Amino acid sequence: MPDRPYLYAELTGSLCSSCLRKVEAKVVLQDGGVYLHKRCPEHGAERVLVSTDIDYWNLTRRFLKPGQMPRVFNTPIEHGCPFDCGLCADHEQHSCLAIVEITDACNLSCPVCYAESSPQRQTYRTLAQVESMLDAVVRNEGEPDIVQISGGEPTLHPEFFAILDAARRRPIKHLMVNTNGLRIAQDADFARRLASYAPAFEIYLQFDSLRPEVHRVLRGADLTSVRRRALERLNELNLSTTLVCTLKKGLNDGELGGIIDFALGQRCVRGVTFQPVQHAGRAEGFDPARDRLTLAEVRTRILEQSPVFKPDDLIPVPCHPDCLAMGYALKMAGKVTPLTGLIPRDTLLAAEGSTIVYERDPRLRAAVFNLFSTHHSPSSGAEAFRELLCCLPRVLAPPALTYDNLFRVLIVQFLDAHNFDVRSVKKSCIHIVHPDGRLIPFDTYTLFYRDGREDAWRSAVARTAGR
Ligand code: SF4
Ligand code: SF4
Repeated sequence: MPDRPYLYAELTGSLCSSCLRKVEAKVVLQDGGVYLHKRCPEHGAERVLVSTDIDYWNLTRRFLKPGQMPRVFNTPIEHGCPFDCGLCADHEQHSCLAIVEITDACNLSCPVCYAESSPQRQTYRTLAQVESMLDAVVRNEGEPDIVQISGGEPTLHPEFFAILDAARRRPIKHLMVNTNGLRIAQDADFARRLASYAPAFEIYLQFDSLRPEVHRVLRGADLTSVRRRALERLNELNLSTTLVCTLKKGLNDGELGGIIDFALGQRCVRGVTFQPVQHAGRAEGFDPARDRLTLAEVRTRILEQSPVFKPDDLIPVPCHPDCLAMGYALKMAGKVTPLTGLIPRDTLLAAEGSTIVYERDPRLRAAVFNLFSTHHSPSSGAEAFRELLCCLPRVLAPPALTYDNLFRVLIVQFLDAHNFDVRSVKKSCIHIVHPDGRLIPFDTYTLFYRDGREDAWRSAVARTAGR
């Protein structure tokens, strides 16, 4: 009898990418990759590549920790995941990072924008609405780890600083502003006022490339000088900044090493987040079959292009190991040392097979799991890094380690209708605050819960129920 041409590994739930009904999906290993095989009774079969690295995919199955629960859940379990967001009591992770979108307006019209923002959209949430969204996060989390003020372009909001003040009045450990950097580049007084919110404050700065042609494709304009000016200001102020790089296959995935190098040379930059384009919202010119990058591909490209990180440095984040990978390096006295560079070589080599060194000692494993969590800001990351170094055999934590010395690379892959995996989405820890107070996983928010998506939700629920 002939064998199947693949290894059937798991069964999960996914969505039909045409009608969004929930369908069964087999996870299969074939030709070095991991694929979802699914079939919609109306739209037929789909085969979607979800990982290009079976060893790394297996590693994600070992980076598991019990999910942490929010103080309250927001919705009943009624239609089944992902139609009950949220957070419903079936969700397996609290909000490591909660995003509060304060406007739909933007001073750019990027061809790729999951929020479909533009200058033509002019909705600004009132201060009272934003305060009630912030209260929703506090209700769920008690003391939220990270809240990100986002949009659209949040710096355009007429009450932007009143909103930051409102966030500061609440017990939020770390506040972020997600921005395209135009206002920072154009207005020195604005940048100075932003810096007055430090510490425990960070700029999440759009930064896709060092090349104008990439900006034109992803952002519709050459933003080179805007980025340079914004970073000059942020460097002068030494205001903690993470560069956020949206990746499209064949466009800017050859620049990852260059961007890491560039980032390491900037005084204010604490790390880079790489985010492959999600097929959601406005995704002009994006063909998911041709242009999608998996998390494993991004990780492989970083290892190929950057001399800083080795495979054991870029590991799954236990909060949500399918969709997040992280690596740390230490910047001290002009030298950059990755985490594994601090571990004696004989300890590293003693690791058996693909078991990485951190997994063998329970105390070490707990310290790694703590450090490699999405809820860390640069400052709490430094503390967790120090704790980890204390657990490592024969490694002395540098006494003067502060968050200025820490450099973090994070890969964030969001799910869309193509690569959707119900098993995985339940662990999502990056959530968007709905104006009605629900906290909804980023992945499902763009599919079903953003303004105007209610019909898609209703139709998917009805089709799944066979109505
Ligand atoms: S994604 Fe989470 S919150 Fe949404 S329905 Fe599924 S379990 Fe509930
Ligand atoms: S991606 Fe950001 S900068 Fe671009 S249109 Fe959307 S909100 Fe504006």
